[in-house]
Amino acid sequence: MKAKTMTTLNKQDLQAVRAALENRKGVLLAEIRAALADSDDTQFRAVLGGSPGDSSDEALAASLADLSAARIDREVREYRALEATEQRMGDAGFGTCADCDAAIPAARLVANPAATRCVQCQEMFDKTHAGQAHGSL
Ligand SMILES: [Zn+2]
Repeated sequence: MKAKTMTTLNKQDLQAVRAALENRKGVLLAEIRAALADSDDTQFRAVLGGSPGDSSDEALAASLADLSAARIDREVREYRALEATEQRMGDAGFGTCADCDAAIPAARLVANPAATRCVQCQEMFDKTHAGQAHGSL
């Protein structure tokens, strides 16, 4: 039987990943905020509470929980993935591949904190799911 791989991330790695994660969340929130501010859609304006730039990141993030908009769907999904990652950071299994259980290198997690697979498994996953995002024209 297969033993559960322990993460190879040390304390410093985890701090670097957490910093990258926080940074990425800030970038995503800024993108989402900009997209909302640009929008003519009243639903988006309602999320901003009528005062663009004044709402706190926390309030914005909370509002996003109920918001589904194709335009910022990718950003919102990544933001939620980052939040989920944050929750998992204390777990023993954090930093291991969801598919093959191999340790995910710290550098990969810093580059992409929401990564749940090693590079090989992610490539496999992307190949398997390739084309689905492009739709049919
Ligand atoms: Zn893997």
